[in-house]
Parts: sequence; structure tokens; C-alpha cells
Amino acid sequence: MGKIKQKLQRLMYGRYGGDMLNNVLLGTYIFLVLAYYIISMLLPLEATGPRMILSFAHYLLTIPLICVIFFRIFSRNVAKRRRENERFCGFFRLRRNKIRDRKTHVYRKCPKCRAVLRLPRAKGKHTVVCPRCKNRFEVKG
Ligand SMILES: [Zn+2]
Repeated sequence: MGKIKQKLQRLMYGRYGGDMLNNVLLGTYIFLVLAYYIISMLLPLEATGPRMILSFAHYLLTIPLICVIFFRIFSRNVAKRRRENERFCGFFRLRRNKIRDRKTHVYRKCPKCRAVLRLPRAKGKHTVVCPRCKNRFEVKG
């Protein structure tokens, strides 16, 4: 048991491993596999045409997906994989915060540097100074 663990540790040394993005990809993979089995159970056996299309679509989606998952787990480019995950999580964090703050704040993109600014909700037109690039732009409340 200890030897297997040691071998596994050596195999994973310097490699990226799992993260949130990979968990979501894996979840998607499991969902697609389950959907495939459920649909193929519902299809009559003699419907060979639809069955062929279904299994083709299934492999077309799941094989690249599982390749991406393994590629990311065994990747040595840890910094790049971490950035991908950060971008992915950031996208959902922003959506969640937008909903959470919808009564008190608005989110606006700086037209110059594309930074997303969280601004207190106020009526009328306002001038905003971007904290990142110092660009001034108008925001309607
Ligand atoms: Zn800016």
C-alpha cells in the first residue's frame, strides 16, 4: 500500500493535479456518460440509425473532454493551469457578486483597460475614475 502511494507521489511530482475547473469538467463528463446511457436505454433496439448518431455524438464530446481533463491533471505548466482555473472561477464569482449586490452596486467595465469596477448604485450620470488606469468615463445610474 505504501509503495503504491510512493509511486503515485513520484508520478504526480511537479504536475498540476486537480482544481475547480477540472471538477466541473469531470462533472460534465459524468453527466454526458449518464445521459448517453439513459437515452440509449430509451431508444428502441431496432433504431440503429439514431443509436449510431447518439454514440457518435457521445464519443465526439466525451473523448476530447477526458483528454483535456487528463492533460490538465498531468500538466507541468502549473502557472498556466492555475491561471485558467482563476479565470474560470473569476467568471462565476463575478456573476454571483452581481446578483448579490444588485440592489446596492453596479458593475461596469472600464472602456480603456477592461477592468471591472464595482460602483455604488446612484441615480443620474456620474464620472468615474478607473483605479487601475486612471481613465475617466461616464456611468449612468
Ligand atoms: Zn481602466
